[in-house]
Amino acid sequence: MSLAHETVEAGVRRLRMRNWRGTAVGYEVSAYLLDDVLVDTGFAHARAPMLEAVAALQPRGVIVTHWHEDHAGNVPALGAIGLPMLMHEACEAQLRAHPEIRLYRRVVWGRTPALSQSIEPFDASPLAVVAAPGHSADHIVVWDAERRILVSGDLFLGVKVRIAHDHESPRTLVDTLRRMAALEPRLLLDAHRGVVRDGAAQLRAKADWTEETIAAIEALAREGVAGGEIVKRLFEGESLVGWASGGEYSRAGFVRAVLQESKGHCQY
Ligand SMILES: [Zn+2]
Repeated sequence: MSLAHETVEAGVRRLRMRNWRGTAVGYEVSAYLLDDVLVDTGFAHARAPMLEAVAALQPRGVIVTHWHEDHAGNVPALGAIGLPMLMHEACEAQLRAHPEIRLYRRVVWGRTPALSQSIEPFDASPLAVVAAPGHSADHIVVWDAERRILVSGDLFLGVKVRIAHDHESPRTLVDTLRRMAALEPRLLLDAHRGVVRDGAAQLRAKADWTEETIAAIEALAREGVAGGEIVKRLFEGESLVGWASGGEYSRAGFVRAVLQESKGHCQY
């Protein structure tokens, strides 16, 4: 397990966390510090180095982009030392409900301990917290209008991301991507891809690609092509992470998420 600090530019730091388990399947995650506000908390296996980093950097508060365990994994630990926090109410509800997670997620990231203490909010201004649903219903992003920096959690991840959980909403994501692109961010600070320059163009490219892919999936479904066959035809079969996750985070999951919404069984 390691946590490395990198300066992105004046007043902006990246806290980069990885462990051998995550690195083996190509994963690492970053939290970011904008002046004295920390965005995201890393995963439970990174608790000790995250607490050390917080002791050294002394943030005045924490914003949590969404409930997934690689972002909210240390919310209980940072709450316990009295750090004020902002998160979507659905995020807080999930952390209190303490849902069971799949084995591969427990192994890579660790399971977030249940949140039991109360969370004290804080005024993050001049930073703005903006609702950004799609990847998850509780997803928020942090917008620094002065520097035109968007701390984007898992909003972006890459242009052609054809992997999803069943509960994601690809159509909602397209709307969110266009809304965030309209802010014209200069930099995206992505939790997994790191620093993405030319943020607005990247968000638009992702919105376009996702929209085209949704249309292609729907066209095949209308012809009566089954989900598994759609994965083969459009995505050349399942991904490694798709197999490793037992299908939970997969190309088949992306297709299911699109088709569930087409049928009007949308959870959002
Ligand atoms: Zn996530």
